[in-house]
Amino acid sequence: MVFLQRLYPLFLILLNFIPTAYAEWLSDKQAIMGTDVRVEVWHEEVGEGRVAIEAVMAEMRRIDRLMSPYLNESELSNINRHGADAPVPISGELFDLIARSVAFSEMTHGAFDITFASVGHLYNYRRKIKPSEGMLQAALPGIDYRHLLLSKGSNTIKFAKPGIRIDLGGIAKGYAVDRSIAILQRWGIRHALVTAGGDSRLLGDKKGRPWMVGIRDPRSEGKVIAMISLVGTSISTSGDYERYFETGGKRYHHIINPRSGRSVNGIRSVTVIGPDATTTDALSTSVFVMGVKKGMQLVDSLPRIDAVIIDAQGRMHYSAGLLQPGSGQPIRPKMD
Ligand code: AMP
Ligand code: MG
Repeated sequence: MVFLQRLYPLFLILLNFIPTAYAEWLSDKQAIMGTDVRVEVWHEEVGEGRVAIEAVMAEMRRIDRLMSPYLNESELSNINRHGADAPVPISGELFDLIARSVAFSEMTHGAFDITFASVGHLYNYRRKIKPSEGMLQAALPGIDYRHLLLSKGSNTIKFAKPGIRIDLGGIAKGYAVDRSIAILQRWGIRHALVTAGGDSRLLGDKKGRPWMVGIRDPRSEGKVIAMISLVGTSISTSGDYERYFETGGKRYHHIINPRSGRSVNGIRSVTVIGPDATTTDALSTSVFVMGVKKGMQLVDSLPRIDAVIIDAQGRMHYSAGLLQPGSGQPIRPKMD
């Protein structure tokens, strides 16, 4: 009896810990792919949840090693080094993502184009470097997705001529987010958020309520100008504030018009909502290049795709699906 009395308080303490050890929101944030990767999951068993989050981080790092243009040993860098010489054999995974990129080029009439990098690599936003007019004009003929010769049977890629570079910066983060969600699903997780920079995908809801995702004010860091409530969907934002520098009263930023090799004017940010993050990532970049009118026309022509565009005057434009009451995609201005 004395023994039991002594144990009793200990038992109570243990009881306090047991529920949290079994079901909890878990989260982690790591710097990968040149951006912040954030994962939030609800898992019935904390240990397993943590392993699942680490599996996602490992997947993000794997994709970065495969597709980064900044790593000499990445498959992508190897293509850029040898693509003009002979067909370069590549992994099925990279082949498929390049093929998907080309499909987005066709869908957007060249607004989305991974060969933008033929000129894009001449900019360094951190060091405020841009190409001279002569360098830009010399490199511009390298931009055209039709210069990419893909051979499905042998999984090779060849550049039609020298002076071409590719960069998957407009689609790879969304792809990595989709792969991450698939991993979480395999772990039996049904409520999660994965974010890589401006690209997010939500699995299920936030246990009984929707996820609230903010659209930031493009000219005021930390200020949110709209909140969107979402369940089981993807959302990507492309902004002229992510990587840029200003000189001579002009903003040079990382979204390049493939026709001119220059940063796109007229828009500050584009947010696209859709079923998967590869699509929303590619489309947010595409719509940014296409501009408000043509970009919104494309969005409204695509099933299950919506968008919010903030133009150069700070005005907000909504796709038809977001304006219709009862469309299932409520949007409301933030009240603060
Ligand atoms: P996002 O933030 O998803 O819009 O991606 C921007 C990134 O996409 C840039 O940093 C570039 O790596 C890449 N990019 C820029 N312009 C284009 C373009 N016209 N087509 C495809 N990718 C682009
Ligand atoms: Mg994008």
